[in-house]
Amino acid sequence: MYRTNTCGELRITNLNQEVTLSGWVQKLRKMGGMIFLDLRDRYGVTQLVFNQETDAELCEQAGKLGREWVIQVKGTVAERSNKNLNLPTGEIEIIASAFQVLNPSETPPFTIEEDTDGGDDLRMKYRYLDLRRTSVRSNLELRHRMTFATRSYLNKLQFMEVETPVLIGSTPEGARDFVVPSRMNAGEFYALPQSPQLFKQLLMVSGFDRYFQIVKCFRDEDLRADRQPEFTQIDCEMSFIEQEDILTVFEGLIQYLFQTIKGIDLSRFPRLTYAEAMKRYGSDKPDTRFEMQLVELKDLTMGKSFSVFDSAEYVGAICVEGGASYSRKQLDECTDFVKRPQIGAKGLISVRCETDGTIRSSVDKFYSPDDLQQWLHRAEAKPGDLLLILCGETEKTQKQLSELRLEMASRLGLRNKNLFHCLWVVDFPLLEYDEELNRYFAKHHPFTSPKIEDIPLLDTRPGIVRANAYDLVINGIEVGGGSIRIYNSELQKKMFSVLGFSDEQAQAQFGFLMNAFKYGAPPHGGIAFGLDRLVSIFAGLDSIRDCIAFPKNNSGRDVMIDAPSPISQEQLDELYLQINLPSK
Ligand code: ASP
Repeated sequence: MYRTNTCGELRITNLNQEVTLSGWVQKLRKMGGMIFLDLRDRYGVTQLVFNQETDAELCEQAGKLGREWVIQVKGTVAERSNKNLNLPTGEIEIIASAFQVLNPSETPPFTIEEDTDGGDDLRMKYRYLDLRRTSVRSNLELRHRMTFATRSYLNKLQFMEVETPVLIGSTPEGARDFVVPSRMNAGEFYALPQSPQLFKQLLMVSGFDRYFQIVKCFRDEDLRADRQPEFTQIDCEMSFIEQEDILTVFEGLIQYLFQTIKGIDLSRFPRLTYAEAMKRYGSDKPDTRFEMQLVELKDLTMGKSFSVFDSAEYVGAICVEGGASYSRKQLDECTDFVKRPQIGAKGLISVRCETDGTIRSSVDKFYSPDDLQQWLHRAEAKPGDLLLILCGETEKTQKQLSELRLEMASRLGLRNKNLFHCLWVVDFPLLEYDEELNRYFAKHHPFTSPKIEDIPLLDTRPGIVRANAYDLVINGIEVGGGSIRIYNSELQKKMFSVLGFSDEQAQAQFGFLMNAFKYGAPPHGGIAFGLDRLVSIFAGLDSIRDCIAFPKNNSGRDVMIDAPSPISQEQLDELYLQINLPSK
């Protein structure tokens, strides 16, 4: 028997017990005639003591142990004279009577401690060692508890987990596909699923009624902190339901997770239409932990010979509480922020309402104090507050204001990680126009149902057709999204034609779905949550990487196993592939 107990388990109530522990040597301290050794496993750390006076030989052997050696120890539980109450096992220690080296270790490339000396790259390369660190491991434990709770919640509601294939065909659904060449079908390729969308809809046609799957999805996109080429979704679909049913069931799931995992009771989630979200926050995933909503000023700014505002389609502001005290330098920083190419504003106009009530602005030449007072009044600014104003094309400017709003909130410390504001954004537009390609794209995906009352507009003004589509947003992060689906093959055909597919193209790519719809497809709809994002929010992390066991870096590489990598000429030949790299 390797162990009677784990390294996280023994307490003062176990006093005098003979125990055997196995684990990794975290640290050795020699003090006088004693050696103190911290032994670590997944469950915690327990202090071992070797005493020269009682067993000189054993003590000498223990002194030769190195960091991260795997050992087995026998000993007796004793009360510590020097208790460490920060550690669950901190009231006891094990007086060692024997030990055995199960496996020595080379000196690890970084210290396996909370404050490690290893940089990001090194820890990625030795991820299996990084995973020994408590914080990294506890993120994965959290992930496990969340998937376990998710399965248990959905199982109780009759959802059935069904696996769908990973080798499928390439379909245009937003992002670029990862493809896999087929050896047995020369010149042909599988694609890895961006989501199990079509399969889960087919399962509804099969009558499965309530499906879910915790499933890997793949998208070949440029990477950011919250993106990985492979990621996990909690993917769900239901039949004989309306939007309201989906929102209720999955609001329940999120509440259940907060309740069981974090002990937080969340009340009903507010709902905001897409149009409202854009107007009030300039974003379809607003962070509602703080107010600072967008205020439209266009009508108040007109006709005062300030051509910048007069010629703009939209003039809008946010009110920064206490911002009147900002220095010139701080204001310049705000201007620089909005002028960054990622934001793209041309300039920033400010109006200060000083604490004594005087008003100062960068447009004093054009607007009287009375004019400015009206702006401040509309923005509900108090003495001491600051208005930051942007102007331009409506949607673009709203989005810029949204970025500024988030930036100011970060500076003011308003994005509290211990607060959780969940919100449904509903009534998304069905379509999105691509100016460059001169055509409409599905905003969610082509299987999303338009609102019944908007269907006639598909022929006349497709751009304003609303969809039965919804997103779940937590603290400004889109955590999930879904829609009620089209289940009528004629409407589906119509949708493909609006998207510019010819009948033949639609038939070639989605014929199987439209065919399936001819054999009794029930009304259905669903949703998918990004598990990695959800876990990172629960863990208070900024990046999803730390809640994934073996993540890829920013170039999509796994530096530990060194993938992707070239393959041999034989493998290429077998697949009828030729590598044709552009010359540098
Ligand atoms: N398949 C969709 C997605 O991955 C989710 C859904 O519509 O259920 O975003």
